[in-house]
Amino acid sequence: MTDIIDGKAFAAKLRDRVGEQAAKFARAAGRKAGLAVVLVGEDPASQVYVRSKHKATVAANMESFEYRLPADTAAADLLALIEKLNADRAVDGILVQLPLPAHLDEQAVIAAISPDKDVDGFHVTNAGRLAVGQSGFVPCTPLGCMMLLTDRLGDLSGLEAVVIGRSNIVGKPMAQLLLDANATVTIAHSRTKDLPAVVRRADIVVAAVGRAEMVKADWLKPGATVIDVGINRLPPAEGEEKGRLVGDVDYAGAQDVAGAVTPVPGGVGPMTIAVLLRNTLVAAHRAEGIDLPEGAL
Ligand code: NAP
Repeated sequence: MTDIIDGKAFAAKLRDRVGEQAAKFARAAGRKAGLAVVLVGEDPASQVYVRSKHKATVAANMESFEYRLPADTAAADLLALIEKLNADRAVDGILVQLPLPAHLDEQAVIAAISPDKDVDGFHVTNAGRLAVGQSGFVPCTPLGCMMLLTDRLGDLSGLEAVVIGRSNIVGKPMAQLLLDANATVTIAHSRTKDLPAVVRRADIVVAAVGRAEMVKADWLKPGATVIDVGINRLPPAEGEEKGRLVGDVDYAGAQDVAGAVTPVPGGVGPMTIAVLLRNTLVAAHRAEGIDLPEGAL
């Protein structure tokens, strides 16, 4: 019998804990923790994400600052806004919603964010800190996956973990986190030979590819814990307006084989915003020199 890892419920509890600690922070600091979200252009998916981040931030007793800029915003104007937010003591976390319009250089924009306010964990300073084991900010999605894994498995020492995907925002930081937790880590990607055989040796599979239901049930080692990061929309079936959302793993097939698996939607997705709020609250405590009790989040 395969367990379903309920990321939605886990994320709700995490948001509650963040909300409680955020209220304590506001009393101690005399101000709320603040998250600034910058959206350039009118990408519909990004608008949905920004709206839900705003709602979740306010619900967690934090201040939400939203900046919506036109799609033709000049790089200099965006960088000037980031400079202003870097200097603003009411702002603890800065998130620039990606993707940016093509004329803007994403790496240059991320580099402009103060690493101490980089709650997305995308700045090279934070990537470097993660690589060498210093505390910084870890990208929200892989940190959320890690929370689900340790909640399920406890100690990951010596377990075989296969991460499929090597992006800077998911695959690579995920592998680092697993390595820090003493798993034996393999990173697979589009050039990996015999991916099914690589996946078959894994006690932990993290799929972050972006290919609908690519990981088949017969690739999985029986009992494996499967974290499905992928979000893919299938073409609409007859009578459907929109196609179904599916992950990178054949979820139905995995039911007979995996020990536990995250659903899509309702698995990793809700963890991302919850961890963003957590990172923002951590940034606020660091900015004010206030201790966050060990294990509070
Ligand atoms: P990405 O930057 O496109 O990276 C995809 C990775 O998958 C690449 O490393 C690529 O290998 C690898 N890949 C592609 N085809 C493959 C194949 N046939 N076999 C093995 N590996 C293959 O994507 P991403 O940003 O990491 O996102 C991955 C997925 O997670 C997407 O579906 C995205 O929507 C989802 N996502 C979800 C959340 C969330 O909140 N739940 C957050 C972020 C991303 P190469 O490097 O060799 O090209």
